[in-house]
Amino acid sequence: MSESATVRARAEIDLAALRDNVRALRARAPRAAFMAVVKADGYGHGMVPVARAALDAGATWLGTAMPEEALALRAAGIGPDRARVLCWLWAPGGPWREGVEAGLDMSVSGSRALREAVAAARGAGLPARIQLKADTGLGRGGCQPADWPALVGEALAAEGEGLVRVTGLWSHLACADEPGHPSIAPQLARFRDMVRYAEQRGARPEVRHIANSPATLALPESHFDLVRPGIAMYGISPSPELGTPADFGLRPVMRLSASMVLVKRVPGGHGVSYGHTYVTPGATTLGLVPLGYGDGIPRHASGSGPVLVDGKWRTIAGRVAMDQFVVDLGGDEPPEGTQAVLFGPGDLGEPTAEDWAQAAGTIAYEIVTRIGARVPRVHL
Ligand code: PLP
Repeated sequence: MSESATVRARAEIDLAALRDNVRALRARAPRAAFMAVVKADGYGHGMVPVARAALDAGATWLGTAMPEEALALRAAGIGPDRARVLCWLWAPGGPWREGVEAGLDMSVSGSRALREAVAAARGAGLPARIQLKADTGLGRGGCQPADWPALVGEALAAEGEGLVRVTGLWSHLACADEPGHPSIAPQLARFRDMVRYAEQRGARPEVRHIANSPATLALPESHFDLVRPGIAMYGISPSPELGTPADFGLRPVMRLSASMVLVKRVPGGHGVSYGHTYVTPGATTLGLVPLGYGDGIPRHASGSGPVLVDGKWRTIAGRVAMDQFVVDLGGDEPPEGTQAVLFGPGDLGEPTAEDWAQAAGTIAYEIVTRIGARVPRVHL
C-alpha cells in the first residue's frame, strides 16, 4: 500500500494492546490452553501480525474458519513447532491433502468430511489430525447427537488404521453472550455427554473445547482444556450486556481514521450527498472524509455514524457513498488534512466500534471485520 494511501486513511493496530488482551483473557482461564481466533484477516486487524502477537503473549493454538487462511499462516512461516492451527469450514474437495502436509488440525462434522480427511492421509502418507465437532445446540456446524455414535465409530476405526489422529472434541455455544440464557447449561451438558461417549469408545483427544469470548470471560465451567476467544482479544466486548471492554481489562486494538480531503463552506438549504437526505440547516462547513461503504463503512450509518474531528463528535451528514462521506462541521473550519477519527479505544475521546455498531444497527464484530483492503493496516 502506498504512503499516500496511509495518509488518506489508516487502521492503526495496537499489537501491544492485543498482547495485553491475550494475557488478560488467559488469566481468566488459567488452566486452559489459548487458541487465538484469527479468521477473517484477524477480524480485520491483519491475520499474520495478530497471530504472531497472540503467540508472543502465550497463545499456543490459532483458529481459522477457512483452510486457506490456515495454510496462509503456515506459508507466512508459522510452522507446526510454533502453533497448532485448527480450521473448521471445509468444503467438499477442499485442500485436505495440503492441510495434512501442513500439519493442520481439521474439523470434521460428518462422514463426508471424514472420508476426505482419510483420503488425504492416504495420499500424503501421514495421519490427518482431525477434531470431531459436535452440534450441542447451536444448530449450525457440527455433528447431530443422533449421528455422533456413527461418526465417532468411523473416526476411531480410521485412527486404528493409523490414518487419522482424533486430536480434539469440540463444539460452539449459541448464546454465551446472553448471561443466564436457558440454552447454555443444556449445551454444556450435551457437550459433556458427547465427550464422555467418545472417550468411552476409546477417543483420546488432546483438547476438548467450547468457549468463545463471552464464555471465556464469564463462564468458567465452559473452559475445559482450551478457550477460543476472538472478539475479546481485539479489545471489543462480545455484548454490551456482559460489560464494557474496560470491565474485563481489555483495550480496543484498532483505531480507524482518515484525513479530510476537502473542507468547504456551503449556504443553508444545501442538500448533502446522494438523495439529499440531509439538508444544511444554515450556512455551515462540510468536511469530506475519504472512506465509504467500499471500505466497509456501513451505509446503514448514514446520518448517524459518529466521527471525532478536532475534539468534537460530529455525525455523518447524509448518505455514506462508496468512497466517501460528509460531516457537518458547523462553525468550525479546520484545515484540509485534519484527522477524522471514526473509532478507536476512546483515549482521544473518539467513538468506539460499539458506538458505530449502535449507529448502524449491527454488532461491533461486523464493524471491524468489514474494514476493507483499501484501508492500510499500520501495525504498531
Ligand atoms: N470458535 C468458533 C467456531 C467461531 O466461529 C468463532 C467466531 O465466530 C469463535 C470461536 C470466536 O468467537 P468470538 O469472537 O465470539 O470470541
